[in-house]
Amino acid sequence: MRIPLSKPDIGEREIRYVTQALRSGQLSLGPAVEEFERRFAAYVGTRFAVATNSGTSALHLCVKALGIGSEDDVLTTAFSFPASVNCLLYEGARPAFADVDPVTLNLDPVEARRVLMREYSRDSLQRCAVHRRSGRTLKAILPVHVFGLPCEMGPILEIAEEFNLLVIEDACEAIGAEWRGRRLGTFGDAAAFAFYPNKQMTTAEGGMVVTDNPEIASRCRSLRNQGRGEDGEWLLHVRLGYNYRLSDLHCALGLAQLERLNDFLLVRERLAALYADRLGTIPEIALPCGIENARRSWFVYPIRLRGPEAGLLRDHLMAELKKRGIASRPYFAAIHRQPYFRQIQLLSDHPLPYTDAASQSCLALPFFPSMTEEQLNEVCAAVHEILDAARSPATVRGKEAARAAGA
Ligand SMILES: *Cc1c(COP(=O)(O)O)cnc(C)c1O
Repeated sequence: MRIPLSKPDIGEREIRYVTQALRSGQLSLGPAVEEFERRFAAYVGTRFAVATNSGTSALHLCVKALGIGSEDDVLTTAFSFPASVNCLLYEGARPAFADVDPVTLNLDPVEARRVLMREYSRDSLQRCAVHRRSGRTLKAILPVHVFGLPCEMGPILEIAEEFNLLVIEDACEAIGAEWRGRRLGTFGDAAAFAFYPNKQMTTAEGGMVVTDNPEIASRCRSLRNQGRGEDGEWLLHVRLGYNYRLSDLHCALGLAQLERLNDFLLVRERLAALYADRLGTIPEIALPCGIENARRSWFVYPIRLRGPEAGLLRDHLMAELKKRGIASRPYFAAIHRQPYFRQIQLLSDHPLPYTDAASQSCLALPFFPSMTEEQLNEVCAAVHEILDAARSPATVRGKEAARAAGA
């Protein structure tokens, strides 16, 4: 694609830091890991940070360290990247899906409460919620800050308090985002971040668990390192662990990116404002919104197509952009609709109309710090042109014919 969807920004500082790590001779479990963890925790505002080799492994460690297992359910959303559900399935835990808010696309606290009241009964002795049919315990709530927009943490934390739920934040798309002046990742018992190259900062592959709880941090350190004893003594294994370590090379890259993160976030904010300015007048498009008392960290630039034809129009727009060498991607395909999750019958007990609608109508446009204003203008001009043409009677007739042929 001439204009890609995303592109990491790697400069001289990254090359210098990684080269230093290479020359140091200590390529894993070395000083760059500790330094990266220390600075990351300071940035987010938690006591501890534990580096992992992906966001998915960070989520898995959160689940495991919090003791969530095969008898447990976790309240979350299906409008997310599959990792936020896979991390539960690894442990035999099951997701209980609540629908998203139709505007923010994040977990709707009202829906979460409705699912809870309808499908679980309260065990007042244990102070927990038990599923009416399966008898499984609702152990945690896992809000995903989708596209870097903070979830409404107030009501979510109230539900957690009331039903004695642990809270895991999936902040993999939300580094630097704030809710009521506090960075995301500081609200739950633990939170996960991710550093894949399309995220706001990258370590190539990588992730991070953050927490204020010393026991959770220590368990995560042990679990990521083959279950070694907490003092890390060589070949003393006290539990079933994994190799989820992040190397010093990756952490050196992460240190350079962390130092530049504020600049990245400001550039992304500026690009988002330009997009909003250029696309705000198109009637078929809904722009990404904000919520009160929150600062979004722009992960992708997600637009939504509106109206009864939204799904068709989204796919048409994507195909036409591709012809012009412009990348775009349907973000997200709802998890409960994916082939694997259908196969294991991970369907929710109730419909998720807003999740389904969002997964049919959302589209991420090219968005990366080195994107020029010319490139952005070209994308927006193409979007205008394609949607203008789609409004003309000839195109509508063509679409009807295509649909009739498909039916
Ligand atoms: C990126 C991402 C992850 C983690 O992805 P990795 O590729 O394993 O680093 C988890 N959840 C969400 C919502 C994500 O966007």
